[in-house]
Amino acid sequence: MNTLPNQIVDTIASVIGDQSVPLHAPYFGGQEAKYVAQCVETGWVSSVGSFVDQFERMLCDITGAKYAVAVSNGTSGLLVALQLAGVRPGDEVLVPAMTFVATANAVSHLHAIPHLVEIESEQLGLDPEKLGDYLAEITEVRNGVTINRTTGRPITAIVPMHAFGHPCKIQAIIAVVDRFGIAVVEDAAESLGSKVAGQHTGTFGRLGMISFNGNKIATTGGGGVILTDDDELGPLAKHLTTTAKVPHAWEFFHDQVGYNFRMPNLNAALGCGQLEQLDHFLASKRNLAARYRDAFSTIDGVRFVDQPTGTESNFWLAAIVLDQDQLKERDSILTLANSRGIGLRPAWQLMNDLPMYCDNPAMDLAVAKQVQASLINLPSGVQVAIDSPPSSSPSQSQSQNR
Ligand SMILES: *Cc1c(COP(=O)(O)O)cnc(C)c1O
Repeated sequence: MNTLPNQIVDTIASVIGDQSVPLHAPYFGGQEAKYVAQCVETGWVSSVGSFVDQFERMLCDITGAKYAVAVSNGTSGLLVALQLAGVRPGDEVLVPAMTFVATANAVSHLHAIPHLVEIESEQLGLDPEKLGDYLAEITEVRNGVTINRTTGRPITAIVPMHAFGHPCKIQAIIAVVDRFGIAVVEDAAESLGSKVAGQHTGTFGRLGMISFNGNKIATTGGGGVILTDDDELGPLAKHLTTTAKVPHAWEFFHDQVGYNFRMPNLNAALGCGQLEQLDHFLASKRNLAARYRDAFSTIDGVRFVDQPTGTESNFWLAAIVLDQDQLKERDSILTLANSRGIGLRPAWQLMNDLPMYCDNPAMDLAVAKQVQASLINLPSGVQVAIDSPPSSSPSQSQSQNR
């Protein structure tokens, strides 16, 4: 029967082949095993070692950031970045309602309060216009600090997130919050390789974070990096994530409460092997996205989520969005695909639908609700991208490239 769920699952199978595939498996096609073995052979497996330095240098090259500090995971990186941006216990931090839970958790770990804000449906990130109107309405400035008039708490930072690797409207968001003195910490966990007007995501805010978790475009097993251009905050990020130990040949002197958040050399070794292949990973995923785009262009009731104008997306997770009158089909699509071994996933539950954040301050979230109910992520691992035959219409993917 040619129902929408059948059509959609057949369309995905036409792109990736009729095989069992997870949503996003890691791919090791380079020197990863050799570099990891070097750590074991030399004994440099832990907190210091040349791969950590090399990994950080490679990330400075890739992103253009002046400082890249490798950490144990993206969540810990975000926590430290928020602290360095000036977030204190009891502050409010603006967070998109539609994000992975780690964005809000990093705020909570600092005993600050995630304040959930609306997204727009095109780029799937924060909506700068609605944000500007909302802040003008709910805040006032006291002693130079932007205060939420309802709660009386300072709003000190915002965490724009680049969802599924598609850059959000970062420049417009920064222009809005600059007027309110709110610091920008970018959650670029998913957007390694994604750019806006040629500039890498994660380098627009005062600080940014990229994740190297096992499901991201490049992995260190678990890991993250803090990015910044700030000559004070860059070295401080390193200091704070390495137990705030003052360098000395034998003394243990720590000048504040630091964290043990550094990335072990073993993980950095894996990461160096991964980053050497980044261009290849990005090209493969762009090609896979072009094939999904072509395949879905003939299916009614569904739209492929494409690269926003003026940006370069890494297409970390390809996605489709169901038309409003097809929302009732979503669960049948997910069930059918997963029963055939195709790892489709819905968007994350909104933060305010989770028990720990349901009473948090929030603006009207109609668009986030609509996106959450209609978006489905497609299998997007690098192996899937490599296995699928080349796109039949490179010209179209080229035109999306501008
Ligand atoms: C993966 C991810 C994180 C957290 O990164 P970890 O390395 O898993 O801690 C944070 N935010 C978003 C949007 C993510 O996708």
